[in-house]
Amino acid sequence: MKVPLLDLTRQYEIIRDEIRATAEAVFASQQFILGPKVEELERDIAEYCQCPFAVGVSSGTDALLISLMSAGVGPEDIVVTTPFTFFATAGSITRIGARPLFVDIDPITYNLDPDALEQTIALLDAPRKKRLKAIIPVHLYGQCAEMEPILRLARENNLIVIEDAAQAIGSEYQWDDGRISRAGSMGDYGCFSFFPSKNLGAFGDGGVVTACDKEIFDRLKILRVHGSEPKYYHHVIGGNFRLDALQAAVLTVKLKHLEEWTGKRISNAGRYRKLFEEKRLRHLSLPLEKAGRHVYNQFVVKAEKRDELRAFLSQKGIGTEVYYPVPLHLQQCYRNLGYKPGDFPVCEDAAKKTLALPIFPELTETELAYVVDSISEFFLKK
Ligand SMILES: *Cc1c(COP(=O)(O)O)cnc(C)c1O
Repeated sequence: MKVPLLDLTRQYEIIRDEIRATAEAVFASQQFILGPKVEELERDIAEYCQCPFAVGVSSGTDALLISLMSAGVGPEDIVVTTPFTFFATAGSITRIGARPLFVDIDPITYNLDPDALEQTIALLDAPRKKRLKAIIPVHLYGQCAEMEPILRLARENNLIVIEDAAQAIGSEYQWDDGRISRAGSMGDYGCFSFFPSKNLGAFGDGGVVTACDKEIFDRLKILRVHGSEPKYYHHVIGGNFRLDALQAAVLTVKLKHLEEWTGKRISNAGRYRKLFEEKRLRHLSLPLEKAGRHVYNQFVVKAEKRDELRAFLSQKGIGTEVYYPVPLHLQQCYRNLGYKPGDFPVCEDAAKKTLALPIFPELTETELAYVVDSISEFFLKK
């Protein structure tokens, strides 16, 4: 049996007619740049993410970049983040001229470890503490980072908080007092990606920034069009960070299905748990689910013999992926930052042992059971 890591064609079958109709309406209007379709999506996303404002942008990477620009982060500044994330998180910090400061992760959720964060900030000397401007927590795989302690540290140190929620649209964080907040509504900026493999994927690149503050919202809209306000008058330097009308139209259709698709990802995760528990595989760790809502952009397991397991599953026709094989502090392009192997042991261990299994909403029960059976076959023949 062949089980792909992700099969978007199955989803397209379900929404084909709606997508064709909306795309045809955009073609007929010949309005391709910003305009009413983008505004409609922005209103829908703001409502979905429980934020007052949303600004459609060209990608998740540009969502991060424009947020850092809007926050006034620049050369010589320091931005703290996790080394266990997609490259764009740290890449945008460097592209703006600032310096990423990495902090190790929690071994069970793979998200930024708030205790390590507190220690790292405490150890900074006075000049560097002054240059520390922002923090980018990442809601990895679809589960919110520990926002309560992170926001407390941000407040104490006067840091701007940019949530990298690229993998976490619709994810929910539960506060100590039981209140619930959606990803992207807790920091100053919430950055989302519509890359096709994300839970809400466009037919190409796209992204959005959510914000609670009207001033930030206005500034983001100006930065998105080269800092132009009014047209052809530039008080600030922005870029072309626009979302296409065609992508917005596709996303508006898909957003109406997102709750249903997310529900299926969550129920697939539950099914994996149940089947794996029945197999009692001692050498496999399942992802921890905290209070709140994990939206399972990825279902990531941990095993010592990860590479052998991956090769075995590949022979069985099962698609898997390693997110991410090289921690960011050990990337070639960051040699100049002076990090070395051993600096972030939890992250380095995760990079060696974690593996993402198929979890997409249209995955069938038979396929999922085949994945579990194949993994248990691998461990039993060991
Ligand atoms: C996908 C992703 C991004 C970048 O989004 P693009 O739309 O591909 O530019 C940034 N951060 C994380 C954590 C991501 O998963």
